[in-house]
Amino acid sequence: MRIDVLTLFPEFIAQAAAVGVVGRAQERGLLALQGWNPRDYAVGGYRRVDDRPFGGGPGMVMMIEPLQACLAAARAADPAPAPVIYLSPQGRPLTQKLVRELATQPRLILLCGRYEGVDERFLAAEVDQEISIGDYVLSGGELAAAVVIDAVARLQDGALNDADSAVQDSFEGDGLLDCPHYTHPSTHPLGEVPAVLRSGDHAAIARWRRQQSLGRTWLRRPDLLDETRLSKADRALLEAFRQERGGPEKGEPGQP
Ligand code: SAM
Repeated sequence: MRIDVLTLFPEFIAQAAAVGVVGRAQERGLLALQGWNPRDYAVGGYRRVDDRPFGGGPGMVMMIEPLQACLAAARAADPAPAPVIYLSPQGRPLTQKLVRELATQPRLILLCGRYEGVDERFLAAEVDQEISIGDYVLSGGELAAAVVIDAVARLQDGALNDADSAVQDSFEGDGLLDCPHYTHPSTHPLGEVPAVLRSGDHAAIARWRRQQSLGRTWLRRPDLLDETRLSKADRALLEAFRQERGGPEKGEPGQP
């Protein structure tokens, strides 16, 4: 997969993507990442990329011309067609479902805004989709682009050392949260590892994990359960979890 990022801070994207799974995906040739700086395509001595908003008001707006020239250069670097995605607080919320859709694309072009944002005429003419990483406002789209890059890179075949780990993650499969995980030592002043995980009984372990996944989702994100079709066995596991655990209390995750 190839991802081109239009940004005033290409070094930020390069650094964010240099380590961990994304860095490894690049090393393994699964992800090609290239930053494009609109300032390199701006004309005039000051290489201006922003100007004051019509109508007055605070802040600056990213100008059409440097973005147009920058996008044309990025497009010309590879013949593969690519949707242009503007990272924006006004966009479609990023979910694992959307990440999966993006991860199947051979190429993406991400546009990072700064200041008050981008001239609306450029967005209307050139952008295929706007994506938000949450209901809050960042000072620039670079962090949001880094989030998209990380989430799609780890889904490329061969990026994770164990492909099964992505399948078990929260929001995958039937959309539940992941179960809790433990490692050595089994005994510690902070607590014991649940006995079932040390039992060697694979069926019992799978049942326990499923129950924890259902229970956690009920406690922390009950909205996700509304979107999941639970089997009869699932409902029994969840009911047993509820009986044992009791209802979520005020102040717990997912509770007001
Ligand atoms: N005036 C804009 C608004 O209220 O919709 C916000 C501009 S923001 C200060 C600057 C840039 O940060 C945006 O152009 C966008 O690229 C990026 N950005 C801010 N919040 C974001 C979010 N939640 N998700 C994705 N990108 C975001």
